[in-house]
Amino acid sequence: MIARVSLEIALRKEFDYVIPPGLVGQVDVGSRVQVPFGPRKVLGVVTAVAEESAHANLKPILKIIGAQTLVTPKVLKLARWMADYYCCAPEIALKSVLPEVVRQEESGWRERLFVRALPMPGDFPKLPKRQQEVWNIIEERREMPLQELVESAETTAATVRKLEDRGLIEISSQISERDPYAREEILPTQPIVLNASQATALKQIIRAMDVCSTRVPRVESGTVSKEDRGLKIEDGKGAAPAILHPPSSTFLLHGVTGSGKTEIYLQAIAHALEQGKGAIVLVPEISLTPQTVERFKARFSSGKLQTLVAVLHSHLSAGERHDEWHKIRQGRARIVIGARSAIFAPVEPLGLIIVDEEHEHTYKQEEAPRYHARDVAIVRGQMENAVVVLGSATPSLESFYNASKGKYTLLELPERVDDQKMPHVRVVDMRQAAVKEKGPPIFSRQLKDAISDRLERGEQTILFLNRRGYSTSLTCEKCGYVAECPNCSISLTYHRTGTKLLCHICGHLEQVPSVCPNEKCKNPAIRYSGTGTQKVEEVLAKLFPHARVKRMDADVMKRKDDYRRVLGDFRVGKIDILIGTQMIAKGLHFPNVTLVGIIYADLALHQPDFRAGERTFQLLTQVSGRAGRGDVEGEVFVQSFTPFHPAIQFARRHDFNGFYEQEMEFREQLKYPPVSRVALLTLKGRNEEKVKFSADHLKRELEKRLVTPKDSRYKDLIIAGPAPAPLLKAESFYRHQIMLRTTKMSALSRELSLMAQALALPEDVTLTIDIDPVNLG
Ligand SMILES: [Zn+2]
Ligand SMILES: [Zn+2]
Repeated sequence: MIARVSLEIALRKEFDYVIPPGLVGQVDVGSRVQVPFGPRKVLGVVTAVAEESAHANLKPILKIIGAQTLVTPKVLKLARWMADYYCCAPEIALKSVLPEVVRQEESGWRERLFVRALPMPGDFPKLPKRQQEVWNIIEERREMPLQELVESAETTAATVRKLEDRGLIEISSQISERDPYAREEILPTQPIVLNASQATALKQIIRAMDVCSTRVPRVESGTVSKEDRGLKIEDGKGAAPAILHPPSSTFLLHGVTGSGKTEIYLQAIAHALEQGKGAIVLVPEISLTPQTVERFKARFSSGKLQTLVAVLHSHLSAGERHDEWHKIRQGRARIVIGARSAIFAPVEPLGLIIVDEEHEHTYKQEEAPRYHARDVAIVRGQMENAVVVLGSATPSLESFYNASKGKYTLLELPERVDDQKMPHVRVVDMRQAAVKEKGPPIFSRQLKDAISDRLERGEQTILFLNRRGYSTSLTCEKCGYVAECPNCSISLTYHRTGTKLLCHICGHLEQVPSVCPNEKCKNPAIRYSGTGTQKVEEVLAKLFPHARVKRMDADVMKRKDDYRRVLGDFRVGKIDILIGTQMIAKGLHFPNVTLVGIIYADLALHQPDFRAGERTFQLLTQVSGRAGRGDVEGEVFVQSFTPFHPAIQFARRHDFNGFYEQEMEFREQLKYPPVSRVALLTLKGRNEEKVKFSADHLKRELEKRLVTPKDSRYKDLIIAGPAPAPLLKAESFYRHQIMLRTTKMSALSRELSLMAQALALPEDVTLTIDIDPVNLG
């Protein structure tokens, strides 16, 4: 027997190896193996098993890693689709579907010594006092880790060994699972009674799950055929990457903040379990708080549907991640909750995929494979006959467009649960405030009054500013000097702690100059301008010296526990005012928060990105949603220098549909997504001339291959650029870009992949292809 192996070193090629007699029956599609490659030993994944090979003199597989195949045939197929659609080498796609720690050569299970009580054949012996105390603990627990016993009995291993000598216990090495939530005490919860719109939404999801269940699953054979490799992909205007079966099994759950989406998720998951299937829940990393995880664990920790809930995210230790992943692979955990890469979790059979906050940009991976987890979720759902639910208070235009075209089923939750009112949003015109106070203040009078009201009433406030640091730039008014990063085309941010200038792109650090560094100027009156969270904190402390204020941003939240500790303090009322960046924008429910202040709402509007308006609308809606989650109606102050901008006005009125209509006009006009799909080609290098030259060369190649009169495939293709990237220089690399827009992305991406491999570029210039980019920087 022959195994075809995709090696981890990216070669865009697979190699045949002989399965040695000792491994026959163990090697299967998806097995991880070690094979010889030249003088080296390398790791790879078996992608097919065959009777014979076209090549002679094959070398044997050296060894197999893991007791089970690690990549299931279904996930293998998904990886191949991903390599095709996102223009990356199959090896890179395959690598990304397994966590690093699972791919490693050594087994990652932790073995520990366990103490186990043995059955007593005769009379129980009389023990010395110390030994008796130790025995009492063992007798109660029957089995426990030796280390734990030594600690709780305040004894030594030698004393425990004496009990072993008497034949009372056995000490042996066992696999001990690392459970990241072992110390949590989780109280089980019961399903909550749904309101009318929740119930309607759930009913539709359940009906689709039942329909999916009766469908004959696609036959999965041990070998993957050529047809499977080039999975048929059909796409049209703004379609999901692949449409394999009727659209009714993808839902867009559009529910305002506080409308009870999670309860629908929980009850739909319960239905999947009843069907004997599992579920994957994707949550943005930032919302994957202990509270979120607890809600899922609590619901499924008892009762007849009881199952393990595995959690996959970047804050786990490597060992914890290893154990969580294997709990899923072994079928012991049937519910997975995790960030982006959890979409590859080997849940089988899979009944339901939930993508919460589906509009979040962090679902897009910014390095190869540059996949979007939401879109991968839809493809996986279609491949495995699973229902997909995309949930959001502010759906992406892509998803809402697909729903409006009937590709997804739209489910709406227009009201908050428990008759809570939507917060009252007031937009403050900062241009007027600037005139009154001779220069723009950080706090308008209205916001100051509102904060002081809350402090008097003992209610809490959240202040939001999506910019960390103290001041955003250091400038000289005399000569126009701006302190810029030497490696990136961006100004340095002033951080008060440690008085330093810091680049937020590459981390470059500088001391603050005392005079203007311009030799001809040397003006001592250089000034800081722009406001960051540090400055907000400082000014607030002066305005309200008795308020208990805490700041939450990447500068202060350094340790794993910081985030939960501060939120814990906020919850119990030890903090009056919480200041933060996007860290506090979503998912937090604090009933006592009745005021939200958005310090500078225009920030996201000035980004050179066609999604700037959409992002602003989303951010304002999400942040506003933190107010009024209790009995008291919430109030939101949005400070803005462009108060009449549609994104701000529609957010003020909680009017998603209005925003959508208005924004779509602009997207239609310029043929931006969701009306088309984008491929962003970026050339990168240290020498700007070479980068420019290469970009021009690439543009000519694209035109030669794609814009021929005979070829009607890409008649809607728009090639824009080359142009310098909005952030021209980052980490010492210059970047020039070409943007392609078309409705036929699947075909185009295959073509781009071939072109990229054939393209002759100077040695120090690289090309990256980003399909459906979310970051145009
Ligand atoms: Zn100067
Ligand atoms: Zn920099």
